[in-house]
Amino acid sequence: MNLAHNPSEERLLAYAAGSLSAPEAVVVAAHLALRPANDEWVHTLMSVGGSLLEDSEPSPLSNGALADAMARIETDTGVCDVRPALNDMPELPEPLRRYALGPWRWLGPGVRAREVHAPRDGNCRVILLKIDPGRSTPRHTHCGVELTCVLQGAYATETATFGVGDLEEADEDTLHQPRVVSDIPCLCVVALDGEIQLDGWLGRLMQPFVKL
Ligand code: ZN
Repeated sequence: MNLAHNPSEERLLAYAAGSLSAPEAVVVAAHLALRPANDEWVHTLMSVGGSLLEDSEPSPLSNGALADAMARIETDTGVCDVRPALNDMPELPEPLRRYALGPWRWLGPGVRAREVHAPRDGNCRVILLKIDPGRSTPRHTHCGVELTCVLQGAYATETATFGVGDLEEADEDTLHQPRVVSDIPCLCVVALDGEIQLDGWLGRLMQPFVKL
């Protein structure tokens, strides 16, 4: 397991405890859908947390009774046959399919983005980013957290390469220029807090035009 390409333990624990911000949780959920081993570990964390709660707080309805009741309701009403409308990208992992998507927007040569209508947290929101082979984003840093999970293709920064399921955690201290190294476009889901901050004189010139 390459630790540089997984969420930090703090972030996974916050996810398991349900205290991670909604946009970050969407990206972590996509990562876990592509990484069954990590998903299993998070479920273990969740069940450990759940059993600790059960030990400390007596529950009027046991988990089994609640599940039975829900199953009966679903069978009686046919609820289990009703699926929420799915978006127009079947290639997305399941956690992302339930969200409506905004239109693709052109951000630069070979770079486009569309909004994922998942819950926001202040200025932090979820976007899909699609970058053509050989293309890169401008060199930039960030106002806050930038959590990226690769869904298709691969990209490289100055220090590492990220493939399908890999997760990159970046923040104010990260200056990078992701460049696509796969021969297909690289599709990523990103939780982004605020606007990216472009580097250098050309970046400052372009800054007003790059709105993610
Ligand atoms: Zn970045």
